Amino acid sequence: MKKALVYVTVILLFFAGGLYFSTEKSIEPKVTKKVKFALGTIIEFTIKDEEDSTADKAINEAYAEILRIDSIFTDYSEQSEIGKLNLEKPAFDTLSSEVYSLFVKSRELWLKTNGAFDITLGELVTLWGFKIKDAELVKEIVLPDKKEILDAVNRTGMSKIYLQAPDKIYLNGMKGQFDLGAIAKGYAVDKACEVLEKMGIKNYLVNAGGDVRGTGSEWVTGVQHPRQKDKLAVIVNINGSAIATSGDYEQFFEKDGVRYHHILNPKTGFPANDLMSVTVIAPDLTTADALATGFFVMGYKEAIKLADSLENVECYIIDASGQEHQSKGFYKYIRS
Ligand code: AMP
Ligand code: MG
Repeated sequence: MKKALVYVTVILLFFAGGLYFSTEKSIEPKVTKKVKFALGTIIEFTIKDEEDSTADKAINEAYAEILRIDSIFTDYSEQSEIGKLNLEKPAFDTLSSEVYSLFVKSRELWLKTNGAFDITLGELVTLWGFKIKDAELVKEIVLPDKKEILDAVNRTGMSKIYLQAPDKIYLNGMKGQFDLGAIAKGYAVDKACEVLEKMGIKNYLVNAGGDVRGTGSEWVTGVQHPRQKDKLAVIVNINGSAIATSGDYEQFFEKDGVRYHHILNPKTGFPANDLMSVTVIAPDLTTADALATGFFVMGYKEAIKLADSLENVECYIIDASGQEHQSKGFYKYIRS
């Protein structure tokens, strides 16, 4: 008789946003893991309990879906739907149903976060120098001019655009640039998960540079400490939910002892500086990704109040002094 093998799989991965691993005791479990690149980050797919050929096919299709989403929402190309909108700035336009839906979702989250999450900040992100392509190198750090920032803030804002079902957008006075960098990654992973599920995959994890969605077993996720690269701030279990982290350590520069990073307060046009990192758990990664960014701008008191008012949304925050704060139900996810 064939001896049953009982073993433990431990997958350790360090990514921008943290450490991710899965532990499982089972009889001859199959684990297929593939690492790809998209959305400016490493995407790791892990599938358990499937034949390699089935898992490979599913991963290839899920990855193709991520590339498709990226080609629509990227603002680094003038050919994408967002790129064209930014270039042409029509008074009004007809959007594809997919872009329209994500704009509607973005508007909802803009309202919920009281304007902290805003997909119209592209011009400001460029002004601060956070829209450089891989090949470009910053030679000298020059802070943007305060007047330039104020002018860009005045041209910007979700309050200026109007969405009309089923697919119209009116830009009115919105002369800024759309930047879906704080939500599109989460959306792309959600769509990839949809593809996996349609193909019958039940036990999987998708990790896009630290933003993670996993289901089918206890997936254990470590959140990176914002100041100590090799240290975890907290370790949580997820199964059937998503987790995203926004931090001031992901893209930043320092000048005269001040840290300037890529998460901007839409009201001031300056980097939000009350927090170091925000982790959000939500049923889907689109919501978790956007709320992590929005919460970062809101500060911990408002963010926790909002998380506590939303169903199945929890957050874990480290403020600028290194103090930890969490929403009421976050403890349920912490791995002891
Ligand atoms: P994330 O890493 O998900 O927090 O997204 C940060 C990215 O979203 C930045 O690199 C900007 O492109 C964009 N962004 C910055 N500030 C905001 C904001 N307040 N609301 C929405 N998007 C933002
Ligand atoms: Mg985000």
